Amino acid sequence: MLKVCKFGGSSLADGSQVKKVCDIVLADPDRRVVVVSAPGKRNKQDTKVTDLLIECANLALAGKETEPVLQELVGRFVEIQQSLGLERGVVAEIEADLRRRLAGRRDHAGMFLDAMKAAGEDNSAKIVAAAFRARGVAAEYMDPRDAGMLLTDEFGNAQLLDESYQQLERALRDRQALVIFPGFFGYTRSGAVATFPRGGSDITGAILAAAVKADVYENFTDVDSVYAVDPRIVPNVRHAIDVMTFREMRELSYAGFGVFHDEAVLPAIRAGVPINIRNTNRPEQPGSMVVPKRDVQPGECAVVGIASDTGFVNVYVDKYLMNREVGFCRRLLQILEEEGVSIEHMPSGIDNVSVVIRESRFDAAREQRVVERIRAEFKPDNILVERGHALVMVVGEGMHYTVGMAARATRALAEAGVNIEMINQGASEISIMFGVKAADRERAVQCLYQAFFG
Ligand code: ASP
Repeated sequence: MLKVCKFGGSSLADGSQVKKVCDIVLADPDRRVVVVSAPGKRNKQDTKVTDLLIECANLALAGKETEPVLQELVGRFVEIQQSLGLERGVVAEIEADLRRRLAGRRDHAGMFLDAMKAAGEDNSAKIVAAAFRARGVAAEYMDPRDAGMLLTDEFGNAQLLDESYQQLERALRDRQALVIFPGFFGYTRSGAVATFPRGGSDITGAILAAAVKADVYENFTDVDSVYAVDPRIVPNVRHAIDVMTFREMRELSYAGFGVFHDEAVLPAIRAGVPINIRNTNRPEQPGSMVVPKRDVQPGECAVVGIASDTGFVNVYVDKYLMNREVGFCRRLLQILEEEGVSIEHMPSGIDNVSVVIRESRFDAAREQRVVERIRAEFKPDNILVERGHALVMVVGEGMHYTVGMAARATRALAEAGVNIEMINQGASEISIMFGVKAADRERAVQCLYQAFFG
């Protein structure tokens, strides 16, 4: 059995958290590859090391004083070193590394920023490896460069080059020592540091889990499990999700389910590696499993979770006899394509069609161009652009087999006085999406939670 574990920033925020990480890893000999984030926030007011590094890099690029931020950064590692009783040399090396990066090339801002940002994870991995060694464990820091973690040169938004999988597999296979691997970054073909998008240590963990075909990818964070509904909307939610499928996770996280971004764990999903989301602060809890397939047991709730997100805009086009006009939808989508707008949903009627778009991808200038082009091309009877929409998704593999799910949901929404602007049952039949006004979002989620879990 081989487990790849990833620990997020809050799990490495200070010495006492790093100690928990060591305890967790040592409690299970199958945990042989450990991916770490940079130290995160120690409390609500605190600043993540990655954010300090970005601040430091921006000051340098603007030609301003960087020493105070640099000292603050070193201080974060000193705290960990002292609290764990590690030798001082570890921090001296970290400080030298930060200064080296700061003195590096600045002619390409993105490249410089990435080299600075990566210092959080890189030094976190070095200090965590030292913490294990101080406990007498054979542990080694692995440099992503030596391991063959090759990325595209899209700085700050890099992607893995496929050939990396073989190289990573080779580098990690049959390792005697415990491997501590920094998350979030890799190297371009020309040898520059490149980072994934923010939160990218999840991506590194998923890539390594896929490369070594791990039996499980354990993603340690600061929640016990994923809940059936966002606890900020339903404060006393008690329904933890024990097991969900990849498809369920994708649908839930699409509609704003926190914890992690589904795209980040795609490499593990593609390789069929189950993901276990767990809490560093309560490791005795089993957490939530994300698996390729599951059987819905008789009597089990057909719904696994309810998610919601705001920030959608609905472009509604109405034209009498639209159904007879060949190519209408294709031409409509072509306008959006040419304007660089990706679409989320497209519910349609006989004479009308709605296109749901994320507001962040549809600014006023785009809206104006799109509306003018639709008017000119189709001469519609009506075209309406409504902002401020929310989507609420009811998700569950069991919904496919259960009669009356939509009726139960719509009854609950009606009783709560929520006007449904749109309904769409996903083609996979594992979700039903409701479009509501943003102001009704919380009420909609609360009443649906009552209807299915209450
Ligand atoms: N440290 C990086 C960030 O704050 C990456 C990560 O933590 O996953 O975005």
